[in-house]
Amino acid sequence: MKQLTYSRRHFMHQMGAASVVLPGLSVLSLQSCGGKSDKATAESASSTTTTEGSKRKLGIALVGLGQYSEGQLAPALEKTTNCRLAGIVTGTPDKAEKWKSKYSIPEKNIYDYKTFDKIADNPDIDIVYVVLPNSMHAEYVIRAAKAGKHVICEKPMAMNAEECQQMIDACKKANRQLSIGYRLHFEPHNQEMMRLGQKETFGKINRIVAENGQVQDESSPWRLGRGVGGGGPVRDVGVYCIQGAIYTKGQIPIAVTARKHPVTDTEKFSKIEEGMDFSLYFPDGTIAACKASFNDKYNKLRAEAAKGWFELAPAYAYDGLEGRTSQGKMEIENVPQQAHQMDAFANCILQNKPTTVPGELGKRDVQLIEAIFEAARTGQKVSTKDVVQVLDKSALMS
Ligand code: NAD
Repeated sequence: MKQLTYSRRHFMHQMGAASVVLPGLSVLSLQSCGGKSDKATAESASSTTTTEGSKRKLGIALVGLGQYSEGQLAPALEKTTNCRLAGIVTGTPDKAEKWKSKYSIPEKNIYDYKTFDKIADNPDIDIVYVVLPNSMHAEYVIRAAKAGKHVICEKPMAMNAEECQQMIDACKKANRQLSIGYRLHFEPHNQEMMRLGQKETFGKINRIVAENGQVQDESSPWRLGRGVGGGGPVRDVGVYCIQGAIYTKGQIPIAVTARKHPVTDTEKFSKIEEGMDFSLYFPDGTIAACKASFNDKYNKLRAEAAKGWFELAPAYAYDGLEGRTSQGKMEIENVPQQAHQMDAFANCILQNKPTTVPGELGKRDVQLIEAIFEAARTGQKVSTKDVVQVLDKSALMS
């Protein structure tokens, strides 16, 4: 086998072309739109350029100013080159004041949940980024699409596949792009897992281990199933395991099995699962053994193949990711993931090209989550042959 040399060069072009497999279609190649350095053309970006023809930064409005917006997205938007923080939507006047002065947001670009739809009349806002509790994603994505805005929706896309389809339809009807906040598709260690796995650099993968767990505190009651709900570790952190296993293998599971972890804290976990072991069965017989928890810490993505192994630990964190293979350490730098993710989406809009993480990808994962819950409830192996057949194959183009 060719000796692997890990360097930044390996993944500089990873955000290139993607392939999406849609039902009834052969592989559909989508043009590159992910790279930070890609230049928009005057033709494709006519509605998003200044009168001088130079590219302007697209304006993003964050909807929901919780931990993720405050701790990750707003700071990332100070590092982006294709987009900027232009507006906010919050139900808390104190937060509005704080953000207004901290990020110099004009009063006219600040909305609450009642005035939100007026964002339709605001040319400063090109993209609405929905960062609300999971059970609120569908409503706000659909309202954003109706307001004529492109949309990024946080993971998991929604509570069920039906909501996902309504969100996809609303964006299609409005002729606007919908992307999921899947930051790891733009993260070089995870892109390397995609490349090594999908290109079968170490031969055919025969086993995957994907584990993500955290000890969940009370800071977001909805994560523990209270208030608006929509929480639980499978939806919150397990989706990274589903994602990681699929983009490493480059196939979509045809069945799942699942088993809930025993409940050790009956008060905290009265409304949600404490944790879940689940297995994804791929068409070629490969099994991904996955684990998600709100009461334990793990963070790993590992592939075992015919001629070696490769893994990340931590795999899904915002920073400090580390990779190893049976041939040595991956010498890969960490990057500002959210800045890369948002820049990539802005670039797609500027170039009028599809995102590599569309709503269909979010729907596929929500369908798999639904199957995992059904498998846990029934104790049966549940077929997932009908999930949306969509894959990010951008790694194959590098
Ligand atoms: P959070 O609880 O900290 O913030 C939620 C925000 O929604 C708060 O500002 C809250 O005021 C607001 N909100 C509005 N109406 C609400 C209601 N009726 N009930 C509860 N909150 C309401 O959550 P978060 O950690 O910021 O997560 C928000 C979204 O971002 C979730 O979908 C989560 O899965 C996602 N997320 C993604 C990542 C990632 O790495 N991609 C990381 C963290 C969170």
